[in-house]
Formats: sequence, C-alpha cells, structure tokens
Amino acid sequence: MTTPAIDNTPRVPDGITRSRVANFISSGSNFYTMGIHRGLWTYRHSGSPYVGLSVYSVPDLKDAVSQTFQKVTQHERNYGPSWATHWFKINLTIPNVMDGKPAVFQWNMDCEGMVWSTDGIPLQGLTGGDGQERHEYIVTNKAVGGERHTFYIEAACNGMFGVGDNAMVPDPNRYFSIKTADLVVPDKEVQDLYYDLDIIRGIAYDTQNDSPRAREAVWVINEVINQFILEDRESIKRCKALTSEFLSVNNGQARGQHQITAIGNCHIDTAWLWPYAETKRKIARSWSTQIDLMDRYPDYIFTGSQTQQYEWLSEYYPSVFKKIKEKEKKGQWEIIGGSWVEHGMVLNILENEPRFSGFLILLLPQVLKQSGCDYFFTQKLSWNNINKFPRSTFWWTGIDGTNILAHLTPAETYGASVTVSELTKCTKNHHDLEYSNESLLCYGHGDGGGGPTPAMLERLHRLKDVDGLPMVKPGSVLEFFQGIEKNSKGLQAYNGELYLEFHRGTYTTQALVKRGNRISEFLIRDVEILGTMAKILSKANKKKDIGTYAYPIDDLEWAWKLLCLNQFHDCLPGSAIGLAFKDVHKHHREIISKTMSLRHKAQSSIINQRSQDSIENKPQEGMVVFNTVSWERTEVVEVPRKKTNWMGQQWNDSGHEYVLVRNAPGLGVAGYVAHTSDISEIDKKMAYQDTDGGYYILENQNLKATFNHDGQLVSLLDKKTPDRQLIPNGAKGNVLQLYEDVPIYWDAWDVEIYHLQKWKPIEGEASIKIVSEGPLKAELHFRQKISDKSWIEQTISLTCLSERLEFNNLVDWHEAHQFLKVEFVWDIISDHATYEIQYGALRRPTHYNSTIDSAKFEVCGHKFADLSEANYGVALMNNCKYGYATHGNTQRLSLLRSPKGPDENADMGEHKFKYAIYPHQNHFNSSNVVRQAIEFNAPLSLRYAEDQEVKSGMILEPLFKVEPSNQIILDTIKLAEDDNGNGDVLILRLYEAYGGQATALLKSHLDIKQIIISNVLEDDLDEELPRGDVAGSFKLTLHPFQILTLKVQLAK
Ligand SMILES: [Zn+2]
Repeated sequence: MTTPAIDNTPRVPDGITRSRVANFISSGSNFYTMGIHRGLWTYRHSGSPYVGLSVYSVPDLKDAVSQTFQKVTQHERNYGPSWATHWFKINLTIPNVMDGKPAVFQWNMDCEGMVWSTDGIPLQGLTGGDGQERHEYIVTNKAVGGERHTFYIEAACNGMFGVGDNAMVPDPNRYFSIKTADLVVPDKEVQDLYYDLDIIRGIAYDTQNDSPRAREAVWVINEVINQFILEDRESIKRCKALTSEFLSVNNGQARGQHQITAIGNCHIDTAWLWPYAETKRKIARSWSTQIDLMDRYPDYIFTGSQTQQYEWLSEYYPSVFKKIKEKEKKGQWEIIGGSWVEHGMVLNILENEPRFSGFLILLLPQVLKQSGCDYFFTQKLSWNNINKFPRSTFWWTGIDGTNILAHLTPAETYGASVTVSELTKCTKNHHDLEYSNESLLCYGHGDGGGGPTPAMLERLHRLKDVDGLPMVKPGSVLEFFQGIEKNSKGLQAYNGELYLEFHRGTYTTQALVKRGNRISEFLIRDVEILGTMAKILSKANKKKDIGTYAYPIDDLEWAWKLLCLNQFHDCLPGSAIGLAFKDVHKHHREIISKTMSLRHKAQSSIINQRSQDSIENKPQEGMVVFNTVSWERTEVVEVPRKKTNWMGQQWNDSGHEYVLVRNAPGLGVAGYVAHTSDISEIDKKMAYQDTDGGYYILENQNLKATFNHDGQLVSLLDKKTPDRQLIPNGAKGNVLQLYEDVPIYWDAWDVEIYHLQKWKPIEGEASIKIVSEGPLKAELHFRQKISDKSWIEQTISLTCLSERLEFNNLVDWHEAHQFLKVEFVWDIISDHATYEIQYGALRRPTHYNSTIDSAKFEVCGHKFADLSEANYGVALMNNCKYGYATHGNTQRLSLLRSPKGPDENADMGEHKFKYAIYPHQNHFNSSNVVRQAIEFNAPLSLRYAEDQEVKSGMILEPLFKVEPSNQIILDTIKLAEDDNGNGDVLILRLYEAYGGQATALLKSHLDIKQIIISNVLEDDLDEELPRGDVAGSFKLTLHPFQILTLKVQLAK
C-alpha cells in the first residue's frame, strides 16, 4: 500500500469542482434531488389523517376559537385580499413512525403568520417565501405516536415587504395559497453536516480563493459529495468527520485575529410598505420568535430599539412583553437607542436619537452626550453612492466640539446572516484596523423576517474560532463599545456632518407630511410656553377665586409621542405607501386641532386672569396678542375677525383687516385697542408699476423689489445699504423651475445628480396684478401654468416695516417624475453657504471641486439657507421645506416632487407653502437670520375681543428675557417633567445659534429661588447658574452651538 494513496481520477479544473459544490449545497439547483437539502427533513406527512386544516376569518383569536372552522385541504383555495387575516386551525395526529422523535410543522403561504396556542398565547412568527424564510414551528421535542396537537396560525395577507409590485406600489388584490403544511422530523445528522458545509463553502468562495484554506475547503466539500449517500448513515458519519476535522483547525494567537461581536436584531420599519397596524403584528411575530430562540440557544443575545414598539407590545401582546422583561434580566435581551422611533435625522426634536437611521447631522454628538448616550452606531453611510465613507471606528466630533465614540459596521448591513462572506467584509472594509481590531455584526432578518434564524445561530456557534476567519462571539452592543474603549490604540476623529450620499429626495417627498410636522412642532411649543404662563398666573391668583388653570401634562405627552411616531424614517422622509400616510395625515390633523384648542385654553386663562387684575374695566374692541419668542416684535397682522373697523388701517380682499402691532413683548402678552392706531410715518404707496408699465415694484423703507411679468425678481435694492443691488445684471430671482426627476431605483427616496442637466423655467404664461398697495402691506399676485395639469398661484408681499420679502404659494400639482424648485441668483461671492440644522447651523461648500463637494448637490436644511460674503448676505427661508442647493451664487429651494412608488399618488393635489428672502448686512455669523427665520415660522397668535375688557399695552410682562437676544436663543419653556403640573419648577432650553461664545443676562420678574444647570433628560448637574449684578438677573455664558437646559425653581 502506498501512502499517501494515489488518486486515480483526473485532476478536475477548479471551476468545475466549484460548480459541483454549488449544486450540491444549493436549495434551488436543478439537481436538488441529488443535493443535501432533500435530506434535512424526514418522515414528511401532508394532509389527512395526520395534518388537518380548517380556516376562519375574524379579527382576533378570542372570537376565532368560538367560531366554526371550515375544513380545507392544502391546495383547495386562495386567501386574500391584501392585508386580510385568515385564521387556520391546525389539528395534528402524530404518526406512529414519529414516536420518540422531535416533530416539526412546516408552513409556507408566502406571507407572514403567527402561531398561537389554543389558550391565546402568541408563540412565534412565520415568514413565507424564499430567501428570508422561517417555515418551521417545533411542535414537540419528543412526539408520541397517536398523540394529538392543536394550534392556530394567524395568516396575514402581506409579505415581508408588503403587497407591492416592482415599484413597491401596493396591489390591493394579492392572494396567497398554502404551499406547505407538513409534519416533518429534522434529520439532525444531515442538518449538522449541512451547517458545517455552509461555512466551509463560505471559506471556499468568500475568502481569498487561492489561499491554502480556500483550496482545502473546496477539496473537503468535493470529498463529502463523493462520500454522501443519504440512505447510508455510515456515509453521513464519514462526511461529518471530514467537515469537523476541517473546522476544528483554530486560529493561532487569538490576538492577531479580527474580533467580531455579533448581536441579533430585527430592523422593523414602524411603517413602510405596510401601515402602523401591521407593524404591531410584525413586532409580536418577530419578538416572540426571538424569545423562543433564546430558550433554545442560551448564549444568544438580541437587541431591539424603538420605544414605541415596546409600548405597542405591552399594550397588545402583554404575555410577550413580560417574557422580554425576563430575558432582559438574564442579559439575553438588550434594549438600546434613546429615541421614540428610528427616525430619519433630517428633522427632529431634541429628545431623539438614532441608531439605524438616515440623515445624520452635526449637532447629534452633543444631544447624545446630554441624553446619557455614550456611543453611536450606524451602517447607513455604506449606502453612499458617490464616495466611500473613510472611517469605521472613530470619534465623531460635532459642531460644538463634543466627541462621541462611533462605529460604522464594516459588514455594511444591519441584516447580516452570519456568513463567511460577511466576516471577510468585516476585515476587508474596516478602515481603522491599525487602531481597533474589532467590529460589530448586526444579524437577523428585518421587517417581518423575524430576526435571526436557527441557521444563523448554528453558523455563529461554528464560527467562534476557525483558522483563516475572524473570530466571532455573541455579545451585547454595550460590551462591544466597552471593548473598543479598552483595546483600541487611539482613534482618529471625523469632524463634521455624516452626510448620506443617497436618498436626497426625502427632504422634499410627501410635502404635506413635512408641513404637518413643522406646524405641529411650533404649535406644541406655543402650548408649552403659553401653558407655563397661564399656570404661573393661575398660581399667583389662587386666592382670588378665578378657577385654576391645569397645565396639560397628559395632552402634551400624547402630542409629543404622536409627533415622534410620525417622524419614523419612512414617514417623515416620505418613503412609505399611501395607506401609511393616511394614518400620518390623520395624526398630524389630530395634533394640530388638539394643540390649537390647548393654546386657546391657555390664552383664555391668561386673558381672564389679567382682566380681573386690571382696575379700569371697560368693554372695548381690540386684540390680545401673544408672542412666544423671547424678543419684542413689531409686525403687521391680519385681524382674525372679518369686517372690523380699525382706524387708518388696511383691508384685504377677504374682508380681513391688516393692523400694525407695535412692540409685542417677548414671551409676553399685549393688548391693542381698536380705533387708536397711528401709522403716520407710513404714507407711501408701497406697490406700483414702473413708468412704462413693464415691471411691478414692491417697496418699503428697507427694500425695493422689482418683478417682471412672470413674477421673477429682476432687481432687489437694499435701501439701508445704499446702492446694494442683490441681483446681478441680467440675472433673476424667484425663477420657478421644473426638473426631470427620474432616479435609478428608489423613486420616493432619490433625486439623482443628473437631474441638474435637464430642466426648464416655468414662465411666459403668468397673469399678474397688484392686489394690495399699502399702507401696511403691498401684495403682488400671479398665476402661472406649470403644465396642462398643474398650476401655481403666488402672492409676493412686503409689509411696511419688514426686512423680509415673502412668497406665499398655492399649487395644484399633478405631475409625474417632475421636481419643482425655485431659484435665486445673487450678487454675492462665497465658497460656502450656511444651513440651519436643529439648534445650530452648518457650512457646506458652494462648489463642485471634489466628489465629496459635488455629492452634496442637494442638501437638507431646516428653516433657512444663507449665502454670505464678508459683510453682506441673504437668507432663503421656508415654513415647511427641507431641501436646498447652493452652487456658486445660485441658491435653490426644493418645493415639490412627484415620485410614483411606493405611493403612486405621492404629492398629487393641493399644496400651500411659504418662503421668504431676507437680505442682511454683515456675514451670517453676525446677522439676525436665526431670529427672522423663527419669526417666519412662529407667527404672533391673536385673540379678538369685541365686548371684553381689552387693556391697551402690556397685559403680561415678559416671562423671561435674554439680553442681548440675537445670539442666544431661548427656544423652550415648559414645566419640568417632575413638577407634576404644579408650576413650581420650569425648564428652559437655550442654544447659541451662530457658532461663537456668547454671554448674556437672563432676566425675569418671577421670584426665582435658584436656577440649576440640567441636561436634555432634565437631570440636575449639581451646578447653579450664577446671579447677575442686576436684581432678578442671571449670567449666561454659552460656548459655540451649546445647548443649555436650565431648571428654574420658583419661590413658593
Ligand atoms: Zn427601515
């Protein structure tokens, strides 16, 4: 005998062996019956007498069990339509051949399902179809012949990705049939062999093909195929010996290997290709499945974020919620994320924090730190379609200088499957290996795939330490970050915005959602501020028997939660199906109507309290004006009541009157009695045509704006800066443009870089006229055809004292793949523009020098974008838009898109929105842009009184004042969460808005015991705000872009 033995077969070319291997392991190859898959399950039984099926369609199980179920057979009929629910009763009788064996029920309807016990306990989820399937439910680990088992399957007639077609548009008539309803027994030995082969195949295919390990891996699998005879148990044992030997070869020194922490997760979109209602079921299906897996794999760790989803679970599936709490105690379930939902970060309120989210903005590190979050994880930037993001593990530095430890998983997915290819990616794509040899692998199917599968856990178990591969262990996210802190040799920093080079259309898509969000944010803020005022007054008046004011704690909590829910990352960005937006619009309407009524209540309470206080009570006609910003304002307002009669004022077409409201106190209330106004200094005609009638002019003491027949701005003179012409010779502003908007795939999400090559101006068919000439407000109105189907009406206005020119729009929009923008060309030279983000501002280039610069061809901004040179600038503001572009001296605001998927009716119909331009002296950094933009979004609120006691002048002194008030913005005033509505402890939130250290005095007439510095969560930080020299004042010092939360304790 010769050793080693002579191989008498011809040397098979590598490519041919690899194809053979692929066929053997694949579940879908032509040679399936000769491969390993046919052997994974044995003793298959379908239909009677062992598998009995019956069906009934009702909304919930409580009713279902009491109904008569109709007997059905597997292929008898189809179930639907889309979103319908069908309950199946499954009656199993264990065949005698299965005695003593584990019995598994396999179910596949190509849609999602939930297994329920006969006493109404949700047991686990099922996912139909191929690819991310979950077909098995373990009936018993030890079956007894003749034994009967009964359970229910709640089948939901939607797949993981809803009921959509290729463009993700839902098909209301999808039907599903039962493809598999079989009782089977797992062939444990064959399954073990299969999981081994799966890993060895990964080493053969997904590592370096020509490495010794990869070549040996191919050889091992090929040898297994040669040995494999399903009916011969000895042959299976020989195969397993081959694979075990290969996998038992460990890495050398562990420290030299890349270390991966694997955390199970299940990305569930709170609404996307399905409505909120279906999400509640997806959560229950997915999470009950994971609890079951934790029982079967004790070292398995899973994480779930999104507080909203836990709240739903506790409400609708309390038994599952209870089990999660038990698993959390055992350390198998990790709760992470500080946010209500995983939102897109284009726009948000302070309380939010993302994990797997989209659009990351600079201020976030500070918000995270102040909310007690020390770490930041994302994978989103791997979707960039122009530049590769250059860091994996790094310090992320925000605009205020805060650093947060960040990790971008090099596996480039949150839905990994624990494969060799993903492990290889973890080292290949890791940008910072020399600093930190670790990465986080987030595995598990999302969106109704139910999270990790048993197959993933089997692989994870085998991949602990295999020569040639990174080492993987299950672990929590917290452990992973603590490991980085301990083991890394210093880390690089990344300063600035984590700009996602993708999904740039989401700043604009579903305009009504953006509008509802913006209006709601400002209304809730108004309620908090006016509610605080009313509460403090009511406390002071306690003895006078006026009836106390109750601060609406519960209503405010309800409003914030509902607003946050609808900031979910397919809702606010506009990328869900039409059905989901029905809910979103309804929620916004509810928030708006509720907060309007709460604001009215707070206002009434303030009016009542103060009129009792005043001495000269005589009925007069007039207005009470409420100003919720912290500085004094003088504005022209429209009287809410029709046919009023103030002296020397101005009427408009709709029968309302314009009135000049002078010196409305900041964070205060003032009365304006009718018939007393003087507007003597304003006597000029503010709107007129030029001498040859070719142009239309709006003019006040600050600005002179000239428009052509199309309503385009051909000249804008700043009269306070003599001869400052803002429009370059021959250029124009307010040019409406239509861009062809055909992305590569993600319709609602993406506007692509090439859209800038194909557009046309909307002009030539306007009918234009002056509708108001002053003395308080000048208005120029035009109507312009956009196409045969769509039109725009615009009213351009200037008030007598305003420094802003405003554009009020009404659009009827019925386009397909068209993008409406407005463009202004300015006589300003600057290599950067400044955009507002939440509680701060951010500079971006105005050129396309590098691909990093040009990738930002469409960017997000909140209320304004500013273009400034050293001593002069102009801001373009909006009241509900988020998409901007600035190139050279050209500034654009994105107005409306018209994508056709996944909502085929996205943005069709009527739209109202406003934008404004505000030219200013000085660079943005020392301008008044932030205050102007807030005023544009937070109009004075008014109450009209005919026969009540309206006092002229100050009704309620400013609650707080910040002096000076231009750089430090006092944004939020509310009762503290732990004040319980008593009105003894207030929360103030301020921020530095321009990026420079600022000092100011915080003043108040309230009797303040002390002011404690707090954080976003309203925890005390053991530091008091020092008092100022002036009585009742406190000293504020904020560093650039700092957010400062103060807890104000009032003397009782
Ligand atoms: Zn998502």
